[in-house]
Order: sequence, then structure tokens, then C-alpha cells
Amino acid sequence: MNKKYIIVLIIICILTAIPALCSISAEEEVFVLTEEEKAIVSSYPVIYVALDRKSFPFEFYNRSEKQYEGVVVQILDRVKELTGFKFEYILTNDFEEALQYGINLQADIAVSRVHEGTGFILSRQLAKFSGHDISIQYTKRMPLEVVTLINRAIDTISEEDISSIIASEAVQYEKMSDDTKVYITIVISAFILAAVTSVTILTAYYKYKKQKDLFMNTDRLTGYPNIKGLKSVTDVSISSFNISSYCMANLVVNNLNHIREVFGYPEADKVQTDIAIILDDLIYNNELLAKANNDDFILLLQFTEKSEMAARINQAINRLNEKFELKKIEYPIVLSVGIYTPKYEEVNMDILMQKSLQARQFIKEKDEIRYRFYDETIHIMTVEENLMQQEFLASMEKGEFLIYIQPKISLFDNRICGGEILSRWYNPRRGLIRPGEYIPVFEKSGTIIAFDMYMFEKACQLLAKSLQEGKKVVPVSVNFARSHFTNIDFCNQIFALTVKYEVPPYYLNIEVTESLIAENAKMMNEIVNKLKELGFTISLDDFGTGYASFSDLPNFMLDFLKLDKSMIYNLENSKTKKMIKGITDIAHNMDLQIICEGVETKEQADILKLLECDIAQGYYYYQPMPYEEFEKILQPK
Ligand code: C2E
Ligand code: CA
Ligand code: CA
Repeated sequence: MNKKYIIVLIIICILTAIPALCSISAEEEVFVLTEEEKAIVSSYPVIYVALDRKSFPFEFYNRSEKQYEGVVVQILDRVKELTGFKFEYILTNDFEEALQYGINLQADIAVSRVHEGTGFILSRQLAKFSGHDISIQYTKRMPLEVVTLINRAIDTISEEDISSIIASEAVQYEKMSDDTKVYITIVISAFILAAVTSVTILTAYYKYKKQKDLFMNTDRLTGYPNIKGLKSVTDVSISSFNISSYCMANLVVNNLNHIREVFGYPEADKVQTDIAIILDDLIYNNELLAKANNDDFILLLQFTEKSEMAARINQAINRLNEKFELKKIEYPIVLSVGIYTPKYEEVNMDILMQKSLQARQFIKEKDEIRYRFYDETIHIMTVEENLMQQEFLASMEKGEFLIYIQPKISLFDNRICGGEILSRWYNPRRGLIRPGEYIPVFEKSGTIIAFDMYMFEKACQLLAKSLQEGKKVVPVSVNFARSHFTNIDFCNQIFALTVKYEVPPYYLNIEVTESLIAENAKMMNEIVNKLKELGFTISLDDFGTGYASFSDLPNFMLDFLKLDKSMIYNLENSKTKKMIKGITDIAHNMDLQIICEGVETKEQADILKLLECDIAQGYYYYQPMPYEEFEKILQPK
């Protein structure tokens, strides 16, 4: 509370305390009720007073104390003490209403600030305060003798008494008004605080939400929008009508995993950020670039004509290649771009993304042209792939997958020294299908894992049967797709099958594709070691097609190196011969045997013998054949 009020309070208390005490003792001596007056009091014991409930400090209702207070109430309390009248208060909203109560004869006394009240029998001024008269008006329902007695009692209250009452109420007023001010200040402050807090919280929340949205909508690596970001931008800026004037391109660096593995994650990240900057440079203002989490770059480009689009994509691929050549990096950047130009009836982002991706996935590793438009063929192939996928499980149950085997020939003695299991699918709808048609589909969907295990189990069953029947058996190799080589448990799973069918793992050779060495060398190494430990032999398949080099080989405990058929096409060429001889020598130094695939002629077979290759496999010797046939040709005549 303000200092000023404390001083005023003390002074007023000192000034008023002594006279007040004196007057009380004086009153007691002066005012005595006559018998007649006592009778008046008992005949009219309760007097109803209408007053303004919030006319502070004259009269008011103190909520916290639950009682009526104020100058008028104190004076009437004094009257009560002197006479014995009891005052009941009727609270009204203002003086006007209090007077109206009196005029309506709903009360005996109305308290007002006017001295003379019309409609009342008598008015009595009690005091003056702050320039206001404080008066009570006796209503017409009051017996005169009661009015007279009350007035007599009021008369006995001395001027000092009234002053002291006024002073005490004034202090109370100052105090109260100060408290009220404090209260109001607190309430207002609380409101302001609450408002400020709410505004702060809301601002912070929206800021946080904006930042969160930005974070969620942005590719962490390149800083460009991710798919969510792309969708949120196009939702706002591209109507479903004009989206059909756009086309979508899906661009990916095919050998990104190889770059990651060989040159490290920071290098691969650098490639991606460089690509983002170059692509951003090539797109127009009303076009968009986004980077999906799975390494795909998504371009939403204004579409005019297919030829123009092809020219732009070509230009982008060339520009990227030039920039990377300038950087003199030690690896190639292999790009693939799938493009989808929408039709009017198919206008949404998900379809644009799905179809541009499908177009990209139909670009083969060996294709020279690195972009492809989505077209009817892709549509038909996609439908066919979906069908194959749907038929897969039932086909396995019905035994539609057949075990073919292609013999491997030792180049030292021309005898069959092994075989490679190659699947065939006898599909009633399509006839006998070669693996090139369905293996990539199973690889895409992940069903390849189940499929390869199925083939491996079949191989174990057939070997077990031959062994039980005492027939001649040679080791056979089984192809395993790259997706197996991410899980070390794969080794235990296949080992368990050899245990189940009681086939020594020595009879089973695991063919691993060469590209795995580059993609996931660490895991591949662990798996190869484990397989060797369990007794299997290992071949590195398709050597010469990917990025694996001799420098990688000493890290792996391999048994066979299978040269891809593309390496022996040009076998008459002296350079090819030298290369194969070189490979063979190095392999032999590493205790590896060389298997040559795709041997189609006697000439090729003779040259390979001269070059000291170990094993040959190809149509010159045998086509892949059903296992039963293989078993037959294997048996001594
Ligand atoms: P691959 O492992 O490179 O198998 C050799 C492929 O070359 C076979 O094709 C075989 O029939 C073919 N071939 C054999 N000799 C010659 C020849 O003299 N000239 C030519 N031009 N080709 C020859 P196929 O049977 O069509 O298999 C294709 C690929 O499918 C295989 O290539 C293999 O990677 C994969 N594959 C086959 N069966 C399975 C399987 O059960 N699981 C997995 N994951 N892949 C399989
Ligand atoms: Ca193979
Ligand atoms: Ca091969």
C-alpha cells in the first residue's frame, strides 16, 4: 500500500480516537428510553431500509465480511444500540432504485443523496461527505412516533461521533479503494499477463509449428523440399486442373551405393548436393525440384512437347556428366531418369510420382539412353508384373517352379565337375518362362528371399535323394539375390536346411553377384566368412560386369571366380586373351578357380583351355536341363 495512505490513516486514527471514546461515554448518560418509547419500539421492532448496495462509503455490502457497512449503516447501528430498533437492509442497485422502493412502500426508509425526497413523509440528513448529502427518507408507511424516536436517537449522536464514523469509513474507503485498486490492478495484470502469455505461447507454437513443418518438409541433405514439402507446395500453388500441364521426372544416381561404399558417405552426399544445385539451375521459376528420402530427385517440369522434354532431360544428363567430369572424380556417375506426362483424368501427385518411378525402373543397367518416358508398354509390363506377383505364392505351392541345372565342365579332363541350378517357371497362362522375366520382379517386391530359399531347399532335397540312392553327385551352385546379403542369419538358415536333409554343405556352392562386393563389402565379408566356416563354397558371379576389381578380392574368402559371358564374346581378340590370361594368373595366385560362362563354341573352349581357365559352362557343352536329366548324364556309363 502507498505510504501516503498509511500516514493519513495514522493521523485520522489519532484525531478521531479520543473524541469518539468521549462521545460514547457521553451518549450512555444522555439517551434513556421512556416507557412510551419502549412500547413504540416493541410495536415496530423491525425497520426495512432500502439502500444502494455499492454506494461506498455511504452504504454497501461487504462480501468478504458478509455484512452491511458504511456511514449510514454505522449511524443506524448506533440508533439500534440506543433504541432497540432492528434494521433490515434491502439492497438495490442504485439510489434511484432505493428511492423507488420507498415510493412503492416496499421499505420503511430509503437512503439517498438528496435532502428532500418527494413521496416521503420526512427526510433526515445524517451527514455530509465529499460534497454529498447523506440522508434517509422515511416512507409513508412509517408511523410518525417511530420516525420521531429514530430522529431523537440520531440527534443524540454528536457531531464528533458522526465525524469519527465518516472518518473511519473514509479510511476504510481509502483502504478499500486502495485494495480495490490493487485488486483491479491484479485482475488487469492477470488478464494482461494471461493475454501476453497466450500470445507468446501462440506465437511460439506457430513459430515451432512453422519450423517443424519446414523441418518435416525439407530434405536434410540438400535443403530442397522432400516429398511432403513438394506436396504441400503443389497443394497450394498448382490446381488440379493445371497440374496436367506439368510432367514429372524421377532422377537417380544408380551407383550411389557403390560410391557410398567405396568413397564414403560424405562423398556420396556431395554428389547428391552437387546434383541438386545443377538441377536447380536447369529448372524454370514455375518448376519444382524435390529430393525424396530414398535418393530420388523429383522434378516437376512444365510440359509442352515430348521431344522438347526429351531434349531438356538429355541436356540435364549431359550437364551433370560434364560437371562431374570437370571435377575429375574417380568414378562414373550413372544416372537414370523416368518421366511421366499425365493425362487429364489422372492428375494427382502420387500418380505422377508412381509412374515416373515405374518408367525409371524399366531402364536396364546396360541401356545407353538413360531416360525413359512412361508409355503403354510400361503400363502393360507393370500389369503383368503385378499379376506375376499375385500368382507367385500359389505357383510355389503347385510346384510350378522347376529345377533346371546346367552342367559345369572341367577344362582339364572334360568331365562334369558341377552344375548351376537355374529356375524355370511353368506358368499355365504363359508357358515356360525364363528367370530373366520373373527374377527382377521378385527382386523388386522382396519375394526373392522366399523364392531363393525355396530353390535352395529343393536343391537339398534332390541332392539328398541322389545321395541316399547311392548315385554319383557333384557340387551344385545356387544363385542368391543380393537382398540376402544384408542379414547374417541367412547363413544359419541355409545351413539348417543342409542339416535337415543331411546334405554335406560341401555339395552346395553359393553364387554371389559381383556388384555386392561394391555395395556392401563389410556385411558381405562377414557372410562369406561365416558360409565358409559352415562348409559351403563360394563363387563370385558375373565378374567383369560391375565395379569390383582385383584389389577387392583378397578381402574375401572365395573359391571360384565366374567370368561373365560378355568377357568371352571377343575371345579371338588378342587383347581379350591377354586380359583373361592375366585374370586367370592372378586368380590362381589367390587360390581361386576360374569358371567361364557362356561358352558356345569349340574355339572358345579351346582358347580357354590354353589360357588355363579351370571350368567352363555354356551351350557348347550343355543347355540348362531338368535335374533328372542331369542326374542321368552324371552317372558312369
Ligand atoms: P546367371 O547366374 O548368370 O546364369 C547364367 C545364365 O546364362 C543362365 O540364364 C543360363 O541359361 C545362361 N547361359 C548358359 N549358357 C549360356 C550360353 O552358352 N550362352 C548364353 N547366351 N547364355 C547361357 P538363365 O537360366 O536365363 O538365368 C538368368 C539369370 O537368372 C541367371 O544368370 C541368374 O542370375 C538368375 N537366376 C536363375 N535362377 C535363379 C534363382 O533361383 N535365384 C536367383 N536369385 N537368380 C536366379
Ligand atoms: Ca549364376
Ligand atoms: Ca553369371
